[in-house]
This record gives sequence, structure tokens and C-alpha cells, in this order.
Amino acid sequence: MSDVTNRHHEVVVLGAGVSGIYQIKCLIDRGIDAIVLEGDDDLGGTWYRNRYPGARFDSESYTYGYSFSREVLDEWHWKERFSGQPENLRYLNFVADKFDLRSHMVFNARVQSMVWDEDSRTWTLQLADGTTYTARFVITSIGPLSIPTTPKYEGMDRFGGRAFHTWAWPKEPLDLSGLRVGVIGTGATGIQVIADIADKVGHLTVFQRRPNWSKPLRNGPISDEEMAQIRARYDEIFTNCSASPNGFEHMPRWGFWDATPEERRALWDELYDQPGFAILGCNYAEIFFDEKANQEVSDYIADRIRARVNDPVVAEKLIPRDHGFGLQRLPLETNYFEAYNRDNVELVSLAETPIVRFDETGIETTAGHHDLDVIVYATGFDAITGGYDRIDIRGVGGVSLRDKWKDSPTTYLGVLCHGFPNLLMVAGPQSVSGSTNFPRAIETGVNWVTALLDHVREGGHTRVEPQADAEEKWVAEVQRAHERMLFRRSKGWFTGYNSNVEGHNDGRVRYQAYFGGAPRYTTVIDRATADGYPALELS
Ligand code: NAP
Repeated sequence: MSDVTNRHHEVVVLGAGVSGIYQIKCLIDRGIDAIVLEGDDDLGGTWYRNRYPGARFDSESYTYGYSFSREVLDEWHWKERFSGQPENLRYLNFVADKFDLRSHMVFNARVQSMVWDEDSRTWTLQLADGTTYTARFVITSIGPLSIPTTPKYEGMDRFGGRAFHTWAWPKEPLDLSGLRVGVIGTGATGIQVIADIADKVGHLTVFQRRPNWSKPLRNGPISDEEMAQIRARYDEIFTNCSASPNGFEHMPRWGFWDATPEERRALWDELYDQPGFAILGCNYAEIFFDEKANQEVSDYIADRIRARVNDPVVAEKLIPRDHGFGLQRLPLETNYFEAYNRDNVELVSLAETPIVRFDETGIETTAGHHDLDVIVYATGFDAITGGYDRIDIRGVGGVSLRDKWKDSPTTYLGVLCHGFPNLLMVAGPQSVSGSTNFPRAIETGVNWVTALLDHVREGGHTRVEPQADAEEKWVAEVQRAHERMLFRRSKGWFTGYNSNVEGHNDGRVRYQAYFGGAPRYTTVIDRATADGYPALELS
């Protein structure tokens, strides 16, 4: 049993979000002395922080929840097909309380540095408040989208109203009625928040630099009867998700060019009306690889946007020109495009009229001044590697992980890193966490890390590190999978682009995630286990 007041543990897990909660459960089930260090004052990670209006799953709730406990599956009733943030946070608390996981967590424990000591084979972790912990193994469950980033405009600090990132949306109720609100950013977050608040604010100004493709989420309630059917089908649901490259119950098909244009259109009509990511997941796989195929589906979605926006000039501004449909992370929406038909909603295209400066009363673009009471930054995250870069991680010989990953992360299977022994990453860079249904990837990651830890401990080992050439081989596989796909040219967090982060905005691609698909990834990591981890040095 772990005692959270101790400062040394066999395993320290960083982060009490979706992955940290499951990871600590696996460790304490084995009687391992382990604790979680969480920087925030409570558990929940992304669902603790993202309290903005409209925040909800865009994975079907019943594919997002954990699969590891039949009791949880039987007891928890998802109320909506795509559950909202308050309910999602309740779910994570329900799971944590059910298994008494909170007693293994230390809150307000933000790790600033981690230094490997070769003699004692331990990591020393320094917290922001000066407290020090040591651990034989560190498991990072720090999330791929946990470091919010904001633009840098002249005069931002002079703005007299309230301004915050969606990640830091106030916990206390915020009444926006009658207020003039500006939202900067139209990614998955901006699209959710804009659609949700459009009819609740006095006036809404959307500052859009580049539009994103989007299609209806098609949310709805889940009745008792439907929930009973879902429960009876859980094994099948998780099997289907495991079999699909995207980790959802959607299976892509080949045969774009075998179908007639009419047949393709009929399929898209059907998929557009289906909930969630069906339009991506069940589409012709050629749209991700073949420019002509992608252009045709993009033209189709553009027409759907035109049909929903009354003003043709506004509609054209909302249609992406710099990337095709499905080539950046697809946001899903509820009445997003219809928001622009409202008299109180105004679209400002920053591509045409860039922001010049902020001042006390709002934002000035090259076309004029926008008076605002509240500014919302829906400007995204330092994705996937950002959480690692914020900790000064020093491996063998004092080498910095931040320096090693300066140009692009390099890992073995997205879990281990040469030169950084006993550091195990759940949903790490170059795993499938950024490229498939996130919670399914998390369970795969936690299960693999836990099995590896069993192997290391059962063998009486105290040190595990991947060989350098095994890491090189995995990076080559990640690059090969990446280069096959059309999205390799897009400017989004899939390719490591973030205009607000130095080194991520100069056009160089960062190989952040593995895009070979979940089944292939699982085959590779399972083979490593079955073969007895030949790429790992154990001692
Ligand atoms: P994002 O996709 O990176 O979008 C950021 C937006 O801010 C973009 O429109 C970007 O414009 C804009 N932006 C950034 N810097 C700017 C600047 N200096 N000036 C003007 N505009 C600027 O971030 P996100 O929307 O937070 O989404 C991130 C990821 O979180 C999603 O892709 C998704 O994986 C996850 N997410 C999931 C859900 C869910 O339903 N489960 C909901 C929300 C988010 P440019 O495109 O021009 O750079």
C-alpha cells in the first residue's frame, strides 16, 4: 500500500487525467508502491480544465469510457451519445471513488524537473513548491493537449475586460448575456464554444485566421433502453474499436474510383447524417491519400456549408482553401454554421483584416475597432510534446529531453526513450494517442506499460532502456506512415504546427504521432511483448 506522505515510491505517475486514473488503478491492484502527482487541485485532466460552454466528447460516450471494469460498464449510465464536460468529470470521479484512487493522489503537485541518477537508478522529481520525490520508475500521463497557448499581440495586457483561454474557462458560473464577446480561433474548441454561446451573448465576434472543415455531431440522449442495449453490446463495441484503424466503431472502405460519382455522393449524404466521425471513419480511404479523391469530398462538404450559411460571402469565408477535408483534425459541431445566420454574430477574417493591436476596450484589426467585454482565446495547445517540454527532464549524463526532441520527438513505440531509463510514457509522442480514438489508445498504452513493468520487476531488474537503433527504427516507421498521407502538408497539431510556439512555426514537420492505425500499432507492441522485449536493455 502506498502512503502519499512518503517522498520515495517505486512508481510515480504524473497526471490524474483519463490515463493517470487507469494507470494508478493497475499499479495498486498489483500492490506496487505508487502514487500520482497532479499539478491541478483535483483529478480529471482535460475534463477538469476544459469547462467552456459546449465542451463535450466527440467520440461516442460509450467508446470513450474505460473498458477495464465490468462493474463500471454495468453501473454507469451515459446520458448523451456525446456526453458534456460536467458529466464527463462526474464519470472520472465516479471511477476514482469506486476504486478509492484519490487516496493515492497528491494534488497541487506540479513537477518542474526530473533528474535521473545512474548510481541509485532513481528519478528525482522537484515540485514547483520545492518538495522533492524520488522514484525508481516514472510514468507520464500528462496528456497530449494540456499546455494551452495564446497569441502574442501588442497591447494584450491593456485589455480592460475579462480575457481567458478556453482551458482556463472560469469555474464559477459566467453570465455572458448582453455582453460583447470575442472568440479567437476556430479549431475544434472554438467551433464548440462559438456554436454554444451564439444565442446567449449580446454580440459575438469571431476572429478566424484559417477556417476548418466541420460537420454535424448529431448528439442525442441515451434512454434507459438504449443504455441496456449498449451494455449488452460492450464486448462487441470494444472489439470493433480495436479492429478499426481509427479506434472507433467505423471501418473505412477502399473503392473510391470503383464507385460512380453518384454512388459516392449517395454515400456522403448518408455519412453526413450519421453521428460523430462516421464521415471520416467510414469514408473511402482514398480521400486520405489521393488528392483528386480528397478534392471531390472537399467540394461536397463545401456545398453543405454553402447550404447552411445564408450570406454567400460569409459562407465562402468559412470554407477552407489551404487544406482538404479530413486533413487536419476534424471538429464536429451543433449548429455552428447556423450561428453565422444570426444578427448578433459577426465573422472577422484575419486572413483579410489581421489584428493590429489590443487596447483597453477591445481589438483593432486593419479594418477597424471591435468593442469587447470578454475575449476568449480558443487558440489551441502546445500539442503532444508541450507537457514534456515544460518539465526539465534530464536523463543519462544530464542530457535534456527538451533538447533531444528540439526538432521532433524520437521514441521507441511512443513509450520509451533512449537515454532516459525507467521513463514510461502513456499516450506519449509517436504512439496512436494523437491519431485515433483517444481513450482506446490510452487503455492500450496503460496495459502495455503495466505488462512491461511486470516483466521488469518479475525479472528482478531495476533498469529498462530501449536500444538506440530500436528507437531509430520506430521513428523511421512513424515517418513512413506519416509521409504516405495527404495531411503531411497541413498546418495543424498533427504535424506539430503551432504559430505561437517557437520552433513549431517555421514550416518544419514534427513527427508527433503514429499514423499507421491502431491495429497495426497494437500488433507491433504486442509482438515486442511476445518476443520478450528484444529491443530493451534490462538490468
Ligand atoms: P486548434 O485546433 O489548434 O485550433 C486553434 C485555433 O486558434 C485555430 O483556428 C488557429 O488558427 C487559431 N489561432 C491560433 N493562434 C492564433 C493567432 N495568433 N491568431 C489568430 N488565431 C489563432 O486548437 P483547439 O481548437 O483547442 O483544438 C485542439 C484539439 O483539442 C482538437 O484538435 C481536438 O483533438 C481536441 N479537442 C477535442 C474536443 C472534443 O470534442 N473531444 C473538443 C475540442 C478540442 P490557425 O488554424 O490559422 O492556426
